[in-house]
Amino acid sequence: MSRLFGTNGIRGIVNRELTPSFVLELSEAVGVYFNGGKVALGCDGRTSSPMFMDAAASGLLAVGCDVNDLGLAPTPAVQYNVKASNLDGGVIITASHNPREYNGLKVLDRSGVELSRDMEVEVEKIYFEKSWVKSDWKGIGVRKREINVLENYMESIKRHVDTDRIRRAKFRVVVDPANGVGALVTPKLLEQLGCKVHMINGNIDGSFPSRSPEPTPENLRGLVEAVKSFGADLGVAHDGDADRSIFVDESGRVHWGDRTFAVIMKFFLERNPGETVVTPVSSSQLVEEIAKSYGGRVEWTKVGAVEVSWRMLKIGAKLGGEENGGVLYAPHLAVRDGAMTACLILNIMAEAGRNLSEIVAELPSYQTVKEKVACPNDLKQKVLEKLREEASGLRVETIDGVKVWFEDGSWILVRPSGTEPVYRFFAEAKTRDKAAELVSKYRSLVQRYVSETN
Ligand code: MG
Repeated sequence: MSRLFGTNGIRGIVNRELTPSFVLELSEAVGVYFNGGKVALGCDGRTSSPMFMDAAASGLLAVGCDVNDLGLAPTPAVQYNVKASNLDGGVIITASHNPREYNGLKVLDRSGVELSRDMEVEVEKIYFEKSWVKSDWKGIGVRKREINVLENYMESIKRHVDTDRIRRAKFRVVVDPANGVGALVTPKLLEQLGCKVHMINGNIDGSFPSRSPEPTPENLRGLVEAVKSFGADLGVAHDGDADRSIFVDESGRVHWGDRTFAVIMKFFLERNPGETVVTPVSSSQLVEEIAKSYGGRVEWTKVGAVEVSWRMLKIGAKLGGEENGGVLYAPHLAVRDGAMTACLILNIMAEAGRNLSEIVAELPSYQTVKEKVACPNDLKQKVLEKLREEASGLRVETIDGVKVWFEDGSWILVRPSGTEPVYRFFAEAKTRDKAAELVSKYRSLVQRYVSETN
């Protein structure tokens, strides 16, 4: 059976791969999966989102689901609504950080977490069998506009930080939501926490006129300039649906997500010693070092935020994180949440009474090198077996591709891409040269295996 869901929901180029008629039919299948229950529906600020919202609402209503229409909302706000209102599930129209020509759907379980792989397979089965029956006139669901969604979501975040302490610190913060839906929440929330907020790229615009919705350091030059010129304590950048946050310190330096996650982890483990922290195998060695120093434990998962969420729910972990700026704080919600992450960072700065640059400087420093190497899909499994053989005798983790640790603490993760005919390499070491050396060694290995197996 072919698959509809990729690593992060369903994504495609608007009106080429993802059409309103497809979204309508898929939403009928999703509605059948939810058994005609109550479903939240929200969207990001893309130009195609209203069109797909209506298609999704029609599909859900046609099979008898009641639809809570949340309108424009950050992904975690929709997820919060599903959990807090005890709904049967949710659908979000968003392509997160993808370029403007894309859109997509995230389907949420009643916990607010995106469907697990097994659940997705059930939806796909319903979709491809096409055996459902549409409701008659009196069985059609009710679409109702939900109010106070964003306010309730912000109240939940505030319950999990020391609001008085943050207010007393009177921070000056620049927020860059990439012309996305983060603009609806983060500035208001930080103002409620006593911050002086400046927003850049704050009008919601699905053409993303100012920067790409992917918060990479190259895309954050505007934020860096703004932090410096306003003399701000912090810069916060979200991706297009505001489930991730990347931070800029007061000196204008962009810190990648692995470092800010380590900062949050340290703060969390100091207060909750012995807890387990969940993170994908692609995360920095920092995660393990901090866990060791503060009596915590690390649970590795496959790459992907949904994998982290489900593992957290399964083992009852409170904190999870990804290197790309996704932090999951389960006492609020076991999903990535950009605004929650920003408030945790402000809480840490307020409590430490120090700048973010000083807090980050205390962490051990590592250098990362990433690369991809071509490998035909049908050879991926064979190559993986060879890589595992090659690593025998070393410390390895094989939950997703193969991750090999070396004695000096450096490591490399080599994993087949789920979407492209390539192998992805992540290496980390004390120096960039050492990380690059690891990548080059494994690049030759993979290339050799590909030519031998061909
Ligand atoms: Mg996102």
